[in-house]
Amino acid sequence: MLKAQTVLPLINGGRLIERHRSMAFVGATGRGGVNRQALSVEDAEARQLLLSWCSARGYAPEIDPIGNLFIRRAGKQPDQPPVMTGSHLDTQPTGGNYDGIFGVLAGLEVLESLDDAGIETERSVELVVWMNEEGSRFAPATMGSAVSAGAMTLEAALNVRDVTGVSVQQALEDHLAIFPELGRRPLGSSGRAFVEAHIEQGPILEAERRKIGIVNAIQGMCTLEVDITGFEAHAGTTPSLNRQDAFVAAMVLLERLRSKLHDPADVLRFTVGRFEVSPGSSNTVPGRVVFTIDLRHPDVEYMLRCCETIRAFASGTIERCNVNSRLLLRSDPVQFATSITEEIRAAAVRRNIPHMGMLSGATHDSRYASFKMPTGMIFIPCEKGISHNEAENVDPQDLIAGAQVLSDTVVSLAGISS
Ligand SMILES: [Zn+2]
Repeated sequence: MLKAQTVLPLINGGRLIERHRSMAFVGATGRGGVNRQALSVEDAEARQLLLSWCSARGYAPEIDPIGNLFIRRAGKQPDQPPVMTGSHLDTQPTGGNYDGIFGVLAGLEVLESLDDAGIETERSVELVVWMNEEGSRFAPATMGSAVSAGAMTLEAALNVRDVTGVSVQQALEDHLAIFPELGRRPLGSSGRAFVEAHIEQGPILEAERRKIGIVNAIQGMCTLEVDITGFEAHAGTTPSLNRQDAFVAAMVLLERLRSKLHDPADVLRFTVGRFEVSPGSSNTVPGRVVFTIDLRHPDVEYMLRCCETIRAFASGTIERCNVNSRLLLRSDPVQFATSITEEIRAAAVRRNIPHMGMLSGATHDSRYASFKMPTGMIFIPCEKGISHNEAENVDPQDLIAGAQVLSDTVVSLAGISS
C-alpha cells in the first residue's frame, strides 16, 4: 500500500499527445487511419520509432522468440519480478490511431515521467509491446501473448501463414534482421503484475460520462463454423419442393437460433460475420453455405449452454439440406485480480477522475498475461465507441487522464525507493 506522503510523478500530457501524432504517420492510409499489420515493414517502423525514444533514455530493450518486445527501466531490486505494462503497435488493415498504441505510449510515459521526476522504483518497470494482437495478417489474434503464456506453442505460431503464403517464421526473421542490436530473452516473461491501458472500443464510458473504466473481466468467446450442403439447381426451372437450397436452410436455422438464444438482458453477443454462398451465381440455387458464429458471454456456463444449443440446432436436416457444425475456438472468460483492480480504483479516486467497473467485450493480450501474473486493464472512452475503423478518435484529455491513472497504478505496484 502507498504511504500518504508519497508523491507520484505527473505524466507529461503534451509529450504523450505529440507521440500519438508522430506514431500516426507510420503506415498512414491518408484517410486518417493507419495500416500496420503484424511484422510488416510498417510495424517494424513503428517499433523503430518507439525504440529511438527508448534509447534516448538508456532503457534496455529485448525481444523474445515470438517477437514480443520488452523495454526495461531498472529498479533498485533488479532481481525482483518487474511490474509490466504495455499493449500493441500492430493494427487492423484500416485501423485507427489509438487501439493498442495508447497502451504502449502511455506505458512509455510511465517510464519517462519516473526519469523526469528522478524517482527510483523498488522493482523494475517494463514496457511490453506484444506481437500480433490484431490477428488480421496472421490468425489468431493475441498470438504473441498466447505463445508467451504457453497457450499456443511457438512452433504452431511460427507455421501460421498470411494470405500470400509468408509464414510467421519468415516474417519474424526479416523483422529481427532490422533490429540486430536488440537483446534476446527466452519465452515466458512474467512479472509482479501486468497493467494494460486501452481504449474501450465500445460506447459505455461515453454514455455513462466516466473517464476511466476499471476492467474486472474479459468475456468468453466461442467461434463456430456451420456448413450446409444442398444441391445446385437451375433457378428458373426448379420448383420449391424439389429444391435443396442451402441459403434457405441457413436462413431457417438462423431464425431458429435467434429466437432460441434471445437474451432479454442483452448480455449475449451473437454475430454471423462471415457468410459464403456457393457457387455464388445469380441464377443457380445455392448448393452450399458456410458461415461462422461468434458467440460471447461473461459467464462460462451460459456461454457453453448456448454453444451446445447451436451444435444441436445446426445438425441433421433442415429444408432437405445437410447441416453440420464444428467448434473453431473456445476461449473462456477471465477474471482480473482484485489486487490490481483495487489499485487502479485507488489511483482514479486519488486523482478525482470519474470511473466505473466494467467488463471487456473485446479480447486483449491481458487475457493471456493474466495466466502468468496478477493483471488488470484501464479503459478510456473513445468517440461514439468507434474502433477498428480509421475514424477512431479520443479526447486528448482522456489520453492524459488514462496515462496518469496507469502511471500511478504501476508506480504504486513497483514501489518508490526511499
Ligand atoms: Zn487493441
